Amino acid sequence: MKENIEYVLKAICDACKKANRNVDDVFLLPVSKTKSVYDMEDVISSGFYTFGENKVQEILQKYEYFKNSKIKFHMIGHLQTNKVKYIIDKVSLIHSLDSISLLDKIQQEAKKRNMIVNSLVEINISREESKYGIFEEDLFDFLSEISKRDNVRVQGLMTVAPYFEDAENTRIYFRKMKLLFDKIAKENYENVEMKILSMGMSNDFKVAIEEGANLIRVGTLIFGKRDYSKI
Ligand SMILES: *Cc1c(COP(=O)(O)O)cnc(C)c1O
Repeated sequence: MKENIEYVLKAICDACKKANRNVDDVFLLPVSKTKSVYDMEDVISSGFYTFGENKVQEILQKYEYFKNSKIKFHMIGHLQTNKVKYIIDKVSLIHSLDSISLLDKIQQEAKKRNMIVNSLVEINISREESKYGIFEEDLFDFLSEISKRDNVRVQGLMTVAPYFEDAENTRIYFRKMKLLFDKIAKENYENVEMKILSMGMSNDFKVAIEEGANLIRVGTLIFGKRDYSKI
């Protein structure tokens, strides 16, 4: 695991150099979905304390195990409205805000608990039917809805690019995301800031960094292949 992490850190460094960016501006989020808490402890010993997960049940179990430690979780997968209440106070960032109904639910549950929920708006930049996220052209209306809900804070945008053997093909999507991100950063929506641009996974994070990602979500390259038969 240590070697995997070193490999990823080196690749981040190279991508930053190539793009003339500061390495400290890129946050590496290890994605631990399907992986055991023991695997996570290996990664924690390398100095990582925040993990990406995509299943509510798994977050609850791991949260319980790491209670009383400084471990934090980001929800990166699609979130069903009826499950918001289970994790709303157990994740430090929701990457997958993708509908008005989810926004309403988060607002409602956050208000009940008198808390502020940080999230990113997920964009379906490639417009694939299989993907979650809102379309670019709907983003401005969506942000004005967010600005009416006081218990939700949007910190930026997230996307999952289509998978290509050759990661170079993802570049156009990441570039579009960065343009959108910069455009919104100039606007003044209440409760909306553009600080985090979450894009890039094991196969395409280098391209994502070159195009301006400041949070990358890496699972396989750190933890190895996932075995879905065990869950
Ligand atoms: C699983 C997952 C990742 C990590 O994918 P890898 O290819 O294993 O690095 C990143 N983002 C999301 C939303 C995921 O579901």
